[in-house]
Amino acid sequence: MLVRMNYKYEMFPNKDQMETMNCWLSICRQQYNSALLDKQRFYQKNKTGLSRHELQKQQTKDKQTFPLLKTMPSQPLQEVFFRLEEAYKNFFEGRARYPKIKKHKDYQSLTFTQFGVEKRKVKNKKTGKVNVRDVRYAASLGENNHLLISKLGSIYVNFHRSIEGKVKQVTIKRQGHRWFAIFSVERHVNETVDFPVQSTGVDVGIHKFAVLSDGSNVENPRFLLKTEKKLKRAQKKLSRMKQGSNNWKKQRLKVQQLHIKVANQRRDFLHKRSYHLSKTYKFVFVEDLKIRNMVKNRHLAKSIYDAGWGAFCRKLEYKCKNNGGELVRIKPHYTSQDCSSCGKRVKKALSVRTHVCKSCGTVLDRDHNAAINIEKVGLDLYGLSPTL
Ligand SMILES: [Zn+2]
Repeated sequence: MLVRMNYKYEMFPNKDQMETMNCWLSICRQQYNSALLDKQRFYQKNKTGLSRHELQKQQTKDKQTFPLLKTMPSQPLQEVFFRLEEAYKNFFEGRARYPKIKKHKDYQSLTFTQFGVEKRKVKNKKTGKVNVRDVRYAASLGENNHLLISKLGSIYVNFHRSIEGKVKQVTIKRQGHRWFAIFSVERHVNETVDFPVQSTGVDVGIHKFAVLSDGSNVENPRFLLKTEKKLKRAQKKLSRMKQGSNNWKKQRLKVQQLHIKVANQRRDFLHKRSYHLSKTYKFVFVEDLKIRNMVKNRHLAKSIYDAGWGAFCRKLEYKCKNNGGELVRIKPHYTSQDCSSCGKRVKKALSVRTHVCKSCGTVLDRDHNAAINIEKVGLDLYGLSPTL
């Protein structure tokens, strides 16, 4: 089976290249915003949507009137409409809010949807002969760990680990003062892994990051909590300063850098934990959380977002797939209420952290009880017997 994976590396553009990329990002952002407005206007008038193809066609025409559009490669420029389409799809399918106008800070990446050098048949118009020729896409690999981007030149990339598989596309991303290249790779999965344990159920913890059905926890690491505390303090300090002053600017930079640090540390943590789970269990059962329903409860929503549960599940899902295992989302159906031992329903408010069953005398941590129930539903679904 083929899977998609991402590899992220830092790259080091020179000053001119940075300026160019910043300019490209703002062109793409403007294209996104005006396409969004066009779609809204078109809908109000005609009661029907404006498709991606129509937007792309319009852009091709616009290139004649706005030469600025021709200063950048056309792939990332066209990819803008994919993003818009995706934003609408997420909205209609209940995963996100209605698409918004993007501000500077919301548009940080450019995607080249094709990559490398490919052999292509080219017909000679005069002789009618068909020749096979190498075609280099706007983004490709250069020599000595450089990335080649047309209209930009070559940029050194720190490939700290090697890419396995075929690169399908590359995204250039701005994060604070740093720049990254994210390679999306297609590769065959390894299907011959032996798993130490057949399955586990995982529940989102409120105090712990996650709780497994064998009672073990995944805790948020201390260093992460520490940086988060620092960030909070820095933000507070910033809010007390005079906006626009030199000190305020300095402090704002500090806050930005702490944000990036927290994000990096969290991602690293999520990678390590999900890697471990995917190597240990063939089946990982998790609750299919309808985040939207959770948002109603502000306190709970915060803890879910903070813990990055959604990001964790996505990472876990592709890692499981990549290992020949499977992440399975289970519909939450009284998983936190029912007794995992006798099945009796024990109603409890969110604040009640311990499950106490009066029928069979089971006393368990609330999340542990839920994790066992999640695994049970999953095993039942697959007709498997529990691991002893
Ligand atoms: Zn019971």
